[in-house]
Amino acid sequence: MSENKKLEKIVGVKGMNDILPADAGMWELLENTVQSVLKSYGFQQIRTPIVEPTPLFARGLGEVTDIVEKEMYSFEDSMNGDKLTLRPEGTAGVVRAAIEHNLVYDGPKRLWYVGQMFRHEKPQRGRYRQFYQTGVEALGFTGPDIDAELILMCQRLWDDLGLQNVRLELNSIGDAAERNAHRAALIAYFEQHIDVLDAEAKRRLHANPLRILDTKNPAMQDMVNAAPKLIEYLGSESLEHFEGVQAILRQNNVPFTINPRLVRGMDYYNRTVFEWVTDELGSQGTVCAGGRYDTLFSTFGGKPTPACGFAMGMERLLELLKANGEMHEPAQCDVYLVHQSSAAQMQSMVLGERLRDAGLNVVLHCATATGVGSFKSQMKKADASGAAYAVIIGEDEAVNQQASVKALRADEQETNQVTVPFDTVVDYLLDQIAGEHHGDDCCDDPDHIHLH
Ligand code: ATP
Ligand code: MG
Repeated sequence: MSENKKLEKIVGVKGMNDILPADAGMWELLENTVQSVLKSYGFQQIRTPIVEPTPLFARGLGEVTDIVEKEMYSFEDSMNGDKLTLRPEGTAGVVRAAIEHNLVYDGPKRLWYVGQMFRHEKPQRGRYRQFYQTGVEALGFTGPDIDAELILMCQRLWDDLGLQNVRLELNSIGDAAERNAHRAALIAYFEQHIDVLDAEAKRRLHANPLRILDTKNPAMQDMVNAAPKLIEYLGSESLEHFEGVQAILRQNNVPFTINPRLVRGMDYYNRTVFEWVTDELGSQGTVCAGGRYDTLFSTFGGKPTPACGFAMGMERLLELLKANGEMHEPAQCDVYLVHQSSAAQMQSMVLGERLRDAGLNVVLHCATATGVGSFKSQMKKADASGAAYAVIIGEDEAVNQQASVKALRADEQETNQVTVPFDTVVDYLLDQIAGEHHGDDCCDDPDHIHLH
């Protein structure tokens, strides 16, 4: 190969996205808002590995599910032959960890997680092969109260994010005996309509007829709509639980529609299932989904433990937030330091450290291959950073031990540049910032110094 021949570029894996700095601010905002809402309900974080033993998902999610049948990234560890899978969802790993570490021995636990999930799907808008979920798992709670709490928590999150067009769909899928009775009725019904079933439905007819209700095939919709409804097969305890959830939602003014066809894609669910759906994301409109899973602990060989949880798709929420949210991207920094001459550069390094000591976020203009650039080009960078202030040390300032402070977001009319002695720059800026926040309900909290 000749020395100056350019090597071929290596590109990322299809359906797995880089999140670039331009989007990082919105991600941070979304994640912080989600996490503060979860904390306000007393949820604690759990971090489990991205890789789990393959049987965990095969057994936990069910063999006849989209994920296990065709979406898992499974491989053999070439070092020892272990069968492993990149997690396609978070619940199975959390429950495994809860059993392994006996997490509920001293009472129920409210847990949350965030991280990448992997599914080998056809990449399209809102559907990726690597995507982020934030999820919660409430372990050891029996009643409808926790189911409703999870839903109220979501509602609070949409409110905090300024998302209005997200609606709640709710259903109960009963317990195993109730589902069996319904299942028998369903199989009988589908057998009467065998000519309408597509190949996938025929394959699932005896293995998992409930999943046929979830079909996206338009030719099957009418037939599926008229199929026997699970709710007609629920016993009194399941009905009471379902009623309990609804009563709490009504009391708290959370609107919902009951969708009798909502069954969810994993086998582990029972009783309450729900989805938050929007019409604003095309066909990938479900931003959050969950439900109760009282038998999953036993499925994994643990002590029977009732539980309930949900997961939200962070990419979908982010898209919605960008389109509708009331939140704006935070600035990169509070202060951008501009300097001309090497003495000024030295001073600005010192000043930068002092400003950071005072709790401010500071970007110092640093040299590139073409040098530090003109004053004008540095000021352009300062403006683009979103900083509220530029602190300028030019040649004159360096000699006079001064710095100029320019308010970048001020009105044209205001005097927006002052020169202050070098030693008072920190105090001057803190005063300015405190002044701007005068009357706000945040003052001494360093988290609130950062300006938007
Ligand atoms: P869908 O019906 O859209 O395939 P699902 O039932 O497979 O969703 P869940 O397993 O319930 O989805 O995951 C919870 C949430 O995670 C979804 O509501 C969605 O917001 C998000 N999600 C699921 N799969 C993907 C994906 N491939 N890419 C991006 N987000 C996803
Ligand atoms: Mg799916």
